[in-house]
Amino acid sequence: MSITALMPVYPRCDVRPVRGEGCYLIGERGERYLDFAAGIAVNALGHGHPHLTKAIQDQAATLMHVSNLYGSPQGEALAQRIVDNSFADTVFFTNSGAEAVECAIKTARRYHYANGEAHKHDLITFHNAFHGRTMGSISATNQPKMREGFEPLAPGFKYAPFDDLDAALELIDDNTAGFLVEPVQGEGGIRAASPEFLQGLRKACDEKGMLLVLDEVQCGYGRTGSYFAYEQYGIEPDILASAKGIGGGFPLGACLATEEAAKGMVFGTHGSTYGGNPLAMAAGGAILDVMLEPGFFEHVRTMGDRLRNALEQMIPNHDGLFDSVRGMGLMLGIKLKEPAVSRDFVAHARDNHGLLLVAAGENVVRVLPPLVIEDNHVSECVQKLSEAARSYTPPSGD
Ligand SMILES: *Cc1c(COP(=O)(O)O)cnc(C)c1O
Repeated sequence: MSITALMPVYPRCDVRPVRGEGCYLIGERGERYLDFAAGIAVNALGHGHPHLTKAIQDQAATLMHVSNLYGSPQGEALAQRIVDNSFADTVFFTNSGAEAVECAIKTARRYHYANGEAHKHDLITFHNAFHGRTMGSISATNQPKMREGFEPLAPGFKYAPFDDLDAALELIDDNTAGFLVEPVQGEGGIRAASPEFLQGLRKACDEKGMLLVLDEVQCGYGRTGSYFAYEQYGIEPDILASAKGIGGGFPLGACLATEEAAKGMVFGTHGSTYGGNPLAMAAGGAILDVMLEPGFFEHVRTMGDRLRNALEQMIPNHDGLFDSVRGMGLMLGIKLKEPAVSRDFVAHARDNHGLLLVAAGENVVRVLPPLVIEDNHVSECVQKLSEAARSYTPPSGD
């Protein structure tokens, strides 16, 4: 038997965290890491945040799970808070981002079905998109590395270059249900859409009765400096998928929709055994308690500006390695210059300098700290990055 007990779909990694303290992780041998990966933009409040921890502990002792066979005062309360603070009129809770995207796709198709236009089942999505790993969500990207060997995939998706409005509009035909798009691509390489692009998609949807579906699984929940990223684009979606930061580390996702867009999602059309259970709702509630405190999103914007400036100042000192900084708020990326490889540089910074980052597409290193970082974490990150840049040797091409 040579297969590992854990299905070997991830590479081996010598960082094996056993404890977390704020913006730091502690490994098996007691070594410390500055965590600017935050569980891939999940640990919005860092590790061991007292309010989140206590809410989960108290709820676990009170009532953990009952299924959706019964009424949910906990779910109603959290859904109402999300509705009160967003474009949405209604929320479906899931356990992950991919499930939130699945619900968003189903809601969009079902809307047109409810209108007597079941032929409008195609969503236009975008190159380099990442929407999750279920069969539906891998069908919604054209990235070969996600799809290869899993065919046949779900039909009903068309792919346009990201941030190219004309190309997206060109793909519209009588079967188009709408667009599915990340306002800021995460996995694809921290690419923020231009305002003209998202506003153009919104306008096309309004004119043609189509739906704008946003995937804010990574860029939502404070990451870019507002509750949701769309707020900074002067538009509102019809449907939105959320996850990652929404539970601060507790597995939770949500599909948000307007009343109109959700009109097909009637009794019996969708469901989940765990979705929205009392324990998950307690975690989601604790996150909102902290995020909706006055000044939280402003703190993210301030720290985002400082981190970005500090990174930009560092670039000229290592201009053979670093190309440029991109992103919004605390969803930042550093584009590397060849022959450096982002995945390789991330491993180097992790193993030799105690700094945790995440690789992304387009040779970008993602910088995704907890949203509660302070100035000292910014300085420490930049110092470790400079050291890592100085000691880094790119892999040889052969
Ligand atoms: C992470 C991510 C997903 C998938 O979320 P999971 O919780 O891993 O299923 C979907 N869309 C985007 C934009 C993501 O970043």
